[in-house]
Amino acid sequence: MDEAALDQAFRALKTVLGARATRAMVHRIGYSRDWSPRHRSHTDLPHIVVVPHSTDEVVEIVKIAYHHRVPIVPFAGGTGMGGGVAAWKGGIAVETKGLDQIVELDEANMMVTTQAGITIWALNEELGRSGLWFPHQPESKRACTIGASIGCDNDSTFGLRYGKILDYLSNVVMVTGKGKALRIGRRKAAFSSTGYKLLDLVVGSEGTLGVVTEATLRVFPLPEARLVRGYICRSLDDGIQALERVLAGGISVESAHLNCRQRLHFYTHAYREKHQREPDIPGWAEAILFLSFAGDEDVVKFSLEKATCILLDEFGVEELREQEMVDGWWASKHSLEFIPFRQKWPDSQREKKFGAADLGLPIGRVEEAYQRFVEIAANWGQDVLGMTVYNEAPNKPTASISFAVFVDDSSKESVANFYNYVKEMSTMAVEMEGTMSSYIGDGDRLGGFNELEHGDSYIYMKRIKEMFDPRGIFNPGKKFESRWITGA
Ligand SMILES: Cc1cc2nc3c(=O)[nH]c(=O)nc-3n(C[C@H](O)[C@H](O)[C@H](O)COP(=O)(O)OP(=O)(O)OC[C@H]3O[C@@H](n4cnc5c(N)ncnc54)[C@H](O)[C@@H]3O)c2cc1C
Repeated sequence: MDEAALDQAFRALKTVLGARATRAMVHRIGYSRDWSPRHRSHTDLPHIVVVPHSTDEVVEIVKIAYHHRVPIVPFAGGTGMGGGVAAWKGGIAVETKGLDQIVELDEANMMVTTQAGITIWALNEELGRSGLWFPHQPESKRACTIGASIGCDNDSTFGLRYGKILDYLSNVVMVTGKGKALRIGRRKAAFSSTGYKLLDLVVGSEGTLGVVTEATLRVFPLPEARLVRGYICRSLDDGIQALERVLAGGISVESAHLNCRQRLHFYTHAYREKHQREPDIPGWAEAILFLSFAGDEDVVKFSLEKATCILLDEFGVEELREQEMVDGWWASKHSLEFIPFRQKWPDSQREKKFGAADLGLPIGRVEEAYQRFVEIAANWGQDVLGMTVYNEAPNKPTASISFAVFVDDSSKESVANFYNYVKEMSTMAVEMEGTMSSYIGDGDRLGGFNELEHGDSYIYMKRIKEMFDPRGIFNPGKKFESRWITGA
């Protein structure tokens, strides 16, 4: 990095932002990594940290970065699992959480326009005052922002009913290129057949095309009631087919997460610790399906009863009698506090880090993928945490899968082996006609290697990037380059 250019850029940033531009080490350290497994030697310090409060200020920041050819890395909650915020090429970390104001709540059209750095939690607190909510909720919602949900196209607990962020999003403002604020989308319309769908391009772009500063989103009435249940299945396939059948019967399910037997044991851990005995779960259990139903009280009750009938009568599934386990599972979806996680974390693994390959697969290949996951993890010396199948499209079973392992991030070799594991899993996804990532994104893991998935269309992706980002300043080292995985 050219030190003189950095000095000049910093001075220019100071004139725009005053104390909200800093080079102090204490701040740089705060923006040096996310939740992805990495050894401490791979902690990346950005050179400068800035905290803009408006689109206009982001425009000025981008103009300065463009002029001095300094990288820009948008930073939100820092809970990403793929190294999306890793400033391994240095540059300016743009703390987006200063962009936290709601611009307009349009109740007549059930739309909210908000600055992009607001957390999903804070947005929902505000909407709740009007009896509304924004159901796109990753488990990290207390820290995760709207801009990052757009940036990495993450999953939501309620995906089976409401889908992914694109199912809510109708407009964004993104500062791109030489510092131009572009309005992209279809205003407040739900559909548009005009032009190209640039909004789709922004979703999942991980800050490589620009900084999203504003978003217009669909909101919903808060449901009156919710019931959550767990069901024990004889196989993963049984769980998937049972869900397919429930949905085909016309029942609206709010969320459905299917866990493999290792994950099941993970959930029983807290129970065992508390009661000093095994929970009441049959020995034949190969998977556990958690379902939630939400809406008017009588509809929810009926939906639960009907779904349970289908599951028990047609698929030999058993209802999980330990409701405490179901409640614990549900609580762990809605808290970033450490306790629910610690409770279910086996003692032997507390020193290790959660790491995952996040594949999107055709629904019929889940069982096969699970067998291969266990083998591939063993080949790379990774301790299996387990597999969870998330459903992320409205009213249809889909397989967005977390293949999770425990990574010993105190060892460089173990971290390297984790990324080899991700590479082999990603190759498997392509062989199985799926995708390498369904919610984490490329981050600094899959760039370049993802050409294997995209073939010739990868070249078009590079050209698109050049059009939005002629000097390559937006989040360099992502999507087209990886520090961990090389060689297709
Ligand atoms: C405990 C825990 C639970 C999690 N649960 C889930 C889950 O249920 N589902 C799921 O999918 N993921 C989950 N994750 C992963 C992570 O929370 C998500 O990927 C989330 O989207 C990251 O949000 P963030 O605000 O922390 O973003 P960051 O990690 O700060 O950034 C993520 C990416 O978005 C880019 N970005 C951020 N803001 C902007 C912006 N304004 N404009 C352009 N680009 C931007 C960044 O540059 C980066 O590439 C979880 C993580 C943790 C630690």
